[in-house]
Amino acid sequence: MNDRAQPSAAAGLVATLVRPEIRALEAYAVARAEGMVKLDAMENPHLLPEANRAALASALAQVPINRYPDGGADAVRGALRRALGIPASLELLVGNGSDELIQIVTATLARPGAAMLAPEPSFVMYRLAALAAGMRYVGVALNPDFTLDEKAFLVAIRRERPALTWIAYPNNPTGNLFATRDVEAVIRAAPGLVVVDEAYYAFAQASLLPRLHEFANLLVLRTMSKVGMAGLRLGYAVAAPEWIAEFNKLRPPYNVNALTQAAVTALLADTGWIDEQARAIRAERERLAAALARLPGASVFPTQANFVVVRVADATRWFEGLKAHRILVKNLHGWHPLLAQCLRITVGTPAENDLVLAACAELCR
Ligand code: PMP
Repeated sequence: MNDRAQPSAAAGLVATLVRPEIRALEAYAVARAEGMVKLDAMENPHLLPEANRAALASALAQVPINRYPDGGADAVRGALRRALGIPASLELLVGNGSDELIQIVTATLARPGAAMLAPEPSFVMYRLAALAAGMRYVGVALNPDFTLDEKAFLVAIRRERPALTWIAYPNNPTGNLFATRDVEAVIRAAPGLVVVDEAYYAFAQASLLPRLHEFANLLVLRTMSKVGMAGLRLGYAVAAPEWIAEFNKLRPPYNVNALTQAAVTALLADTGWIDEQARAIRAERERLAAALARLPGASVFPTQANFVVVRVADATRWFEGLKAHRILVKNLHGWHPLLAQCLRITVGTPAENDLVLAACAELCR
């Protein structure tokens, strides 16, 4: 093969063929984490318990990987339905992570001129999905304490008539759980679909899932990623069957691979380990947040997620200082004015959290 690249020819084609708003983007940067204490991505720090591994291994060994996966993902959807007690009147959709479902839901509702509404700062993929689907994105700033600015949000709903509204509950990257009455007010006022994204529900133990039957315009989105299965990539959405039928038309037929379908089905046979690990993470979150709050110059925001947001005098100095201790967190400074000098620290194992606290104490000296 001739390896004399012709970058200018390709660059010229890219410049004429790729939409300018896509060319202006930066690809989602996943930080390198080899040899680091990895606390930047809200993963569950605990491995699958030894006792559950044999069941997983034997389930995977039996998967006929010469065949395409079950296009309807019936077994895993059935397992989710049973584990969550979802009634027959509601339907489930599974995705290659909830990221994929964010794209599918957005693409389905992206009528020309339609608006997407979301609080800011919130999960960056909402805006990206809007951009990809050609939907008009409108962000509404949170209050400085990260609570929902209900008045501004309702004004924006009346002004924009959004076809799609996102509420991350709890919110990422701020960690707090919006007041239920504010979320209800948004669902009632919104003329379009409201997605309540419960990626962190296991750490908040608050959910709109039991109330789906009250609101025809509500969809609840969740993921297995934060409860110990990030590597499997499985997200799910629950809503009225009429919604799910439309999303299924844009869902790639084999979007969740056969190994993931089998693994999650097997792992949901006994959810005790998931509950136990989530409980341990919640307890560690309280310890980590309280200890960080005692550091001079650090202020910790309330969190109901598996991470803690802390504001310090110089977030970049802290970020680099933690990195020098081989600890990787997220520097939120520069993401949004409300996140000035903030770091987002995922709750780790007790030993990892001790390392964080020791390094932070050193940074304060
Ligand atoms: N929603 C929220 C609020 C998130 O924070 C994340 C992960 N950072 C996701 C959805 C996507 O998770 P996944 O694709 O792993 O299911």
